[in-house]
Amino acid sequence: MKSITRRKFNTTLVKGVGAATVLGSSAVLMAQNRGRNPKKLGVALVGLGSYSTYQLAPALEETEHCYLAGIVTGTPSKATSWASKYNIPKENIYDYENFDAISKNDAIDVVYVVLPNSMHADFSIRAAKAGKHVICEKPMAVTVEECDAIIQACKDAGVKLGMGYRLHSEPYTQEVKKYVAKQTFGKVHYISAEAGYRSLSNPKQWRLNKDLSGGGALMNMGVYAIQSAIYGTGENPISVTAQEFSTRPEYFKETDETITAQFEFASGATGNIMTSHNIRANRLFASCERGWFELDPASTYIPLAGRTSRGELHFKQESQQKLQMDDFAKHLLYDEPNLAPGEMGKRDMIIVEAIYESIAKGGQKIKLDLPTGYGM
Ligand code: NAD
Repeated sequence: MKSITRRKFNTTLVKGVGAATVLGSSAVLMAQNRGRNPKKLGVALVGLGSYSTYQLAPALEETEHCYLAGIVTGTPSKATSWASKYNIPKENIYDYENFDAISKNDAIDVVYVVLPNSMHADFSIRAAKAGKHVICEKPMAVTVEECDAIIQACKDAGVKLGMGYRLHSEPYTQEVKKYVAKQTFGKVHYISAEAGYRSLSNPKQWRLNKDLSGGGALMNMGVYAIQSAIYGTGENPISVTAQEFSTRPEYFKETDETITAQFEFASGATGNIMTSHNIRANRLFASCERGWFELDPASTYIPLAGRTSRGELHFKQESQQKLQMDDFAKHLLYDEPNLAPGEMGKRDMIIVEAIYESIAKGGQKIKLDLPTGYGM
């Protein structure tokens, strides 16, 4: 059988000849590629702010299965400096208006959306419609409805969707998931997860602007605490009760400053999370039937650290973003698992909305019936 190149395959997928044919070709291609070293996938970063500049672009210089092929920016000076720094050809540089023309660019396989939260849905959907696979930064969007629209757009276009949840590729976090799956310390009875930092210097930043951020600490760092509570127990919560605390209303005018929330799980485990834009916190702790495990820090880029009731943990430190983008590329190339699919991002947004609902109702318990089957 004549072998087709991956780029040719992607074009076939974009032009679309019917989902069944595409999936069939995909399986054939994956079988052909297994064990080979195919050309790297081209990634275009949308939004060249601090995360793209200091984490993603450097990580894309280390990735084995993908590379920085294109950029999308509203700032012409960044287009010039990035083009020269990363050797990006002119035809792979877009702005927010001409972005949709990326559909005609075979050098770009994956669009990675790294914009303020309220822009995630628009650009993820446009990327999917352009026939590109999508990585969407956290939080996935600012409402569950938007998450559904992103998932649907990717399904309609036959493209894959992954979340920028780097910790699912990170070794300490993967170790925690193993403890939970194997019940190394017995059943988890209690999980505590905290994620926050102290914002002092820039009241004009988009993270404090509700239209751009969708919310405050909960939308930003809260997603890490929610995620920790779930992979730290291996369960989705079945209820949530939440409280909000405000000590600097003059600074946090539109968005939440500090939130605590308590989860119940079907196993009987309970959990408490805290997230803040005013308190430094970065920890996961699980009390189990026969011991405990802890990550502290649990969600910074590098390095995480951990210990258990049996001793210290030591894992090789590598760029989490490198591991995350390579894992997503391997999902596309070799059908390896999608460690953080869009459905996981949507699940977290359902929990975010339930937490806000509980607060709005004076701390009332909100029952949750969350979808499962896409990983923890
Ligand atoms: P940032 O403020 O540094 O960058 C935002 C980028 O968006 C800038 O390039 C800015 O020019 C552009 N932009 C376009 N339209 C804009 C508008 N109307 N207002 C403001 N900026 C606009 O932010 P960041 O820290 O790079 O965060 C970007 C996204 O990445 C967020 O969704 C954030 O949650 C996510 N993030 C994820 C991680 C992680 O560890 N996974 C870490 C940092 C940020």
